[in-house]
Amino acid sequence: MTIEHKKDFVRETIKKDLKEGKFNYVNTRFPPEPNGYLHIGHAKAICLNFEIAKEFNGKCNLRFDDTNPTKEEQKYIDAIKEDIKWLGFDWEDREYYASNYFDKLYEYAELLIKKGKAYVCDLSPEQIKQYRGTLTEPGVPSPYRDRTIEENLKLFREMKQGLYSDGSKVLRAKIDMSSPNLNLRDPVMYRILKKSHPRTGNKWCIYPTYDWAHGQSDSIEGITHSICTLEFEDHRPLYDWFIEQLGIHHPRQIEFARLNLTYTVMSKRILLELVKRKIVKDWDDPRMPTISGMRRRGYTPQAIRNFASAIGVSKADNTVEFEYLEHFVREDLNKKAPRVMAVLNPIKVIIDNYPEGIVEELEAVNNPEDSSAGKRKVPFSKVIYIENDDFMEKPMPKFYRLTVGSEVRLRYAYFIKCESVVKDKNGNIVEIHCTYDPQTKGGDAPDRRKVKSTLHWVSAKHAIEAEVRLFDKLFLTENPLKTGEGKNFLDNLNPDSLKIIYNCKLEPSLANAKPFDIFQFERVGYFCVDKDSTSEKLVFNRTVTLKDDWQKIKSKLIN
Ligand code: ATP
Ligand code: MG
Repeated sequence: MTIEHKKDFVRETIKKDLKEGKFNYVNTRFPPEPNGYLHIGHAKAICLNFEIAKEFNGKCNLRFDDTNPTKEEQKYIDAIKEDIKWLGFDWEDREYYASNYFDKLYEYAELLIKKGKAYVCDLSPEQIKQYRGTLTEPGVPSPYRDRTIEENLKLFREMKQGLYSDGSKVLRAKIDMSSPNLNLRDPVMYRILKKSHPRTGNKWCIYPTYDWAHGQSDSIEGITHSICTLEFEDHRPLYDWFIEQLGIHHPRQIEFARLNLTYTVMSKRILLELVKRKIVKDWDDPRMPTISGMRRRGYTPQAIRNFASAIGVSKADNTVEFEYLEHFVREDLNKKAPRVMAVLNPIKVIIDNYPEGIVEELEAVNNPEDSSAGKRKVPFSKVIYIENDDFMEKPMPKFYRLTVGSEVRLRYAYFIKCESVVKDKNGNIVEIHCTYDPQTKGGDAPDRRKVKSTLHWVSAKHAIEAEVRLFDKLFLTENPLKTGEGKNFLDNLNPDSLKIIYNCKLEPSLANAKPFDIFQFERVGYFCVDKDSTSEKLVFNRTVTLKDDWQKIKSKLIN
């Protein structure tokens, strides 16, 4: 399926570069740091990079930015690959790691030292910060800034050999301590970190910083357009400076605004905290804004891609409504999800004039939006379940569903009329007694009389039981990170983000449902089989309700 793209400044810049001959091919990259799972913000960056590559007949590399072994783990690498594949993108044989370039980066660093453009500095991290100055005050040069090339080379080699302790020395670029751009005030290129790396083991005890590793990795891979988020805009002069000093292939860095979503936190650091504090079960908890959480919840790759395409890219920071994402989920599931009948809060209905022991197999449409989905048989019998709130003994005004004396349609079955109810000793209704009209089989009366509502139902004898998990937003406030004095994001958590209901009744066609299968429970919502399901018990996650709030919110935003 092709997605129509709007014109945007990223694509326009690329077109211009090709036209002017700055590049004659396009190669983008997606550069995750394997220190957590990917979230919906990353999905935006993934779609952008891979789709641009495709549109321009180019390539997109996957590059793990694995320069900080204190936070990075193999399990994150595996999860990231799985998520990108699931979204429908393919990096082919271009699975790269910044750590692949550690030798080359070291060589480049020596080159800069030899050019007098880098030096070893003994200031502590705190001192470096103090000496850097502020936006209004120039920095103060480090007392180690004027070391000779020979001394710098010797010290840097000794740093690499492990002669110095963590934090005691760094390698810094020698640029301009009075630059209005703080990033150019002699930024750190290497720090000492005596820590084993998942891929390079104990080979290194100095590790490159992001700024030093990133641009050079882009250059080594022949990247043409290095698309990143806005916070790197001020780093671009540094990105360009390193590459110019080294005289190597020069990609263009282009910055776009990161995706923010209402009611959602996106930072991996905070998502990790939610996991560690057991506020959610894991990174793939269906309430998490991670790609794996959304997959488990029942979101489809197509829905996420359509969303990413619709929000587009811009240079201005903004926050997208969570309901807009849900809108694309509904739109896609409406086309794809088979319809079934499931009763979440069952109450028993006995059809007194329906023969005992008879089972009728009634024909039901699998998906009215997709005729190729066909039909199935649903068993009907004397005792069925309907939704508890589809019955009211004392109906409120405009309640058109079942009440004593009223007639409703049972989907695909018959008209039934409620005659009486049976209560337990506490006065709770335990059975609803009805009669049915055999003339109305299939759902229409020969005398054309109308009923005001159609209910879903499940035959009691044939029902399978399931657990259903109803999710709500994880946070109560639009911006969970905005908190009052002395509070933090944990104070904004929604205590009711998960409600579990047991003993839901499902039509028997669901007996063979597998984890990640998605259905529309008619009149209720979209539901996805959870991986916690066993052969004894199915577990469903509510993906999203049926009601689309987006139009309402959109008009509120416009007015
Ligand atoms: P976070 O701050 O959410 O933890 P990050 O930027 O540290 O994320 P990386 O693994 O470094 O995470 O990100 C990989 C790529 O994804 C980067 O190019 C980054 O710009 C992009 N990216 C990260 N978050 C977003 C977002 N919210 N919207 C768009 N792109 C994003
Ligand atoms: Mg990052």
